[in-house]
Amino acid sequence: MQHENTTDTFVCFECRGEIPVDTRTRQALIRCGCAVCGAAVTEGAFASCR
Ligand SMILES: [Zn+2]
Repeated sequence: MQHENTTDTFVCFECRGEIPVDTRTRQALIRCGCAVCGAAVTEGAFASCR
């Protein structure tokens, strides 16, 4: 189990952009918002990729 290598797909509700993210990027997006449009990001914007 390597939780640090978890890969999710971030889908922005505002600009509909899809960005593959790891755990660190995910945390950064939740804190700072969408990297593209700056919209607020919640946990619901991430879909786990298996
Ligand atoms: Zn966006």
